[in-house]
Amino acid sequence: MSDPFFTPVSGFDLPRFAGVPTFMRLPHVPPDHPRFGDVEIGLVGAPWDSGTTNRPGPRHGPRQLRDASTMIRAEHPVTGIRPFEAANCADIGDVGPNPASIPDTLDRFTAFYANLKAQNIRPLTAGGDHLCSLPILRGIAGDGPLGMIHFDSHTDLYHSYFGGELYTHGTPFRRAIEERLLDPARVVQIGIRGTMYDHEDLDFAEKSGVRVIRIEEFMARGVADVMAEARQIVGTSPIYVSYDIDFIDPAFAPGTGTPEVGGPTSFQALDVCRHLHGLEIRGADLVEVSPPFDQTGATAFLGVSVMFEMLAAMVSA
Ligand code: MN
Ligand code: MN
Repeated sequence: MSDPFFTPVSGFDLPRFAGVPTFMRLPHVPPDHPRFGDVEIGLVGAPWDSGTTNRPGPRHGPRQLRDASTMIRAEHPVTGIRPFEAANCADIGDVGPNPASIPDTLDRFTAFYANLKAQNIRPLTAGGDHLCSLPILRGIAGDGPLGMIHFDSHTDLYHSYFGGELYTHGTPFRRAIEERLLDPARVVQIGIRGTMYDHEDLDFAEKSGVRVIRIEEFMARGVADVMAEARQIVGTSPIYVSYDIDFIDPAFAPGTGTPEVGGPTSFQALDVCRHLHGLEIRGADLVEVSPPFDQTGATAFLGVSVMFEMLAAMVSA
């Protein structure tokens, strides 16, 4: 079943600090590559942060995440899953943004992901800020609204910023619900915390049926109980998984633009992903890693570890 072409470079053959860094040391198979049609899960860089409203930098995320991902090995330590043998995985390169235009970038990204869907390639994206998730969903949700499990400190459900701007990293899931890319009754947001502008996002969540699990409830109930409810909410139909690195406490993941204290540990950050196994995951992302604020590289390493966990879940359906 496993195709040797799609095998990552082993640290026994070439040390992990050597070579051109691709995601998890996978082959680089961009859309014009002859083997592109054989890719089943495409690891994509989305180097774009024009939706950022405060501290910028996630446009540099994919480069740093590729570098950190050379530390990722072949086998999951708990489940024994070997994702690179279970599916043809490849680094399919970056989706190119236009840093001078939000509307043009949204269109470019949407076209890129629509092509992946047409080729039956499921994307695992490294952002980029959280606005990246909107054109991803526009590209892959063509068969009808998806469910979503969303890890974040923030709902990203605001209507608009700065007097009517509809496209920021605080609004992607409001747009996605309005555009029927997501079914709000099958959306669950986990880890929400921090001071707020107002209640507008939470009012929308309640009115539309989005389940918001604040950090207090998450900590009181624990990972297994919360994730059992999340699985029940999304059910067996197709879903998207969106993971904002600011879900994790800034003690563990300081390199992000909008950190919120009082969050999950790095262990809990991985553990939540171990409850995604068997779900019908059509795509996933890890967003908001900002290298300029990641002075030790710890955030990027945790980010790629989360990506490996999500990849293991994606091959387990
Ligand atoms: Mn977010
Ligand atoms: Mn956030």
